[in-house]
Amino acid sequence: MAKVLVTGGAGFLGSHLCERLIGQGHDVLCVDNYFTGSRANIAHLIGSPRFEVMRHDVTFPLYVEVDQIYNLACPASPIHYQFDPVQTTKTSVHGAINMLGLAKRVKAKILQASTSEVYGDPEIHPQVESYWGHVNPIGLRSCYDEGKRCAETLFFDYWRQHGLRIKVVRIFNTYGPRMHPNDGRVVSNFIVQALGGNDITIYGDGRQTRSFCYVDDLIEAMIRTMNTPNDFTGPINIGNPREFTIRELAEQVIAMTGSRSRLVFAPLPSDDPRQRQPDISLARAVLGWEPTIDLGRGLERTIDYFRSQLRAAAE
Ligand code: NAD
Ligand code: UDP
Ligand code: UDP
Repeated sequence: MAKVLVTGGAGFLGSHLCERLIGQGHDVLCVDNYFTGSRANIAHLIGSPRFEVMRHDVTFPLYVEVDQIYNLACPASPIHYQFDPVQTTKTSVHGAINMLGLAKRVKAKILQASTSEVYGDPEIHPQVESYWGHVNPIGLRSCYDEGKRCAETLFFDYWRQHGLRIKVVRIFNTYGPRMHPNDGRVVSNFIVQALGGNDITIYGDGRQTRSFCYVDDLIEAMIRTMNTPNDFTGPINIGNPREFTIRELAEQVIAMTGSRSRLVFAPLPSDDPRQRQPDISLARAVLGWEPTIDLGRGLERTIDYFRSQLRAAAE
């Protein structure tokens, strides 16, 4: 059993990852500054003898002893990462340097939660790992996209220069329970709007596409990637290749919640990618993995979660 550090462990994905690792018998150290994460996400883990939490900002050095590091610390939704864009870049870049420095000192294996945003508004479809991307370096999304790209560069330079054992996963849109209800991402927005009987806000004409992966599938792929042989570094795409238009998503959420919400159209944010779908051939071959939970089942669980959250808030 390993001692595992999860940065961003109190966030949406991080909390599911901590839970799964504890379930597998590992000792987990969760590090988070609670910028977008919350204690509520990990409340059910506190009390477990295998779980420890530390409030810490990864832009500052961290001296702990661990065998594995999952580096997830970074706000992930446009509203949150654009709130303080300089801090977003620092989190990705200084955070990566500190976690790589730590991994180097203690000889830990280290996994980076990278993103499909490294492909930007892609010119090839579906996206394969060998594609270098089409990213605006000076736009509103750049603090996130370029920060994540630079973090990948750092990972590969620590690998080349210092022989670190690295893994880089490129995560495509993932959803599920414990998404922040106000973080502006499309799945949580639509569900919260539908359950509240409010208008569903479609940005642009709703013909842009995304491919949505349920959180449990994603976590499985992340852990499998960490456990690949030492000579496997990635980058590796993980996500669900089934692609939907944003309008289709809105209609499905309305149907599943039985909501009377209307669709309203708002301007498309700048640099919003028109289409996105992962090519997961590499994940299929290397991890023997593919998603098992389709959008209908995943939405059902996510809608149940937000329903219970809204009920609790009303009490
Ligand atoms: P999230 O916002 O719920 O989680 C991020 C966590 O990092 C939060 O708990 C936040 O408080 C913490 N954090 C932020 N800055 C920090 C700092 N400087 N020091 C310490 N902690 C800090 O988002 P998420 O969806 O769980 O995303 C987790 C990771 O996965 C991120 O790195 C994100 O870029 C990546 N990712 C997520 C998706 C997705 O669809 N969910 C897609 C691509 C990549
Ligand atoms: N670092 C850290 N924890 C450690 C070791 C290093 O946070 O256990 C940080 C340290 O602050 C340093 C960074 O990681 O700035 C990069 O470390 P590295 O050893 O690669 O470079 P250097 O120390 O030479 O700057
Ligand atoms: N979107 C939307 N309405 C919303 C929130 C998002 O139409 O209330 C759109 C957004 O413009 C984008 C897609 O949904 O085209 C996915 O947005 P999200 O922020 O979830 O993820 P990302 O753009 O980072 O993939």
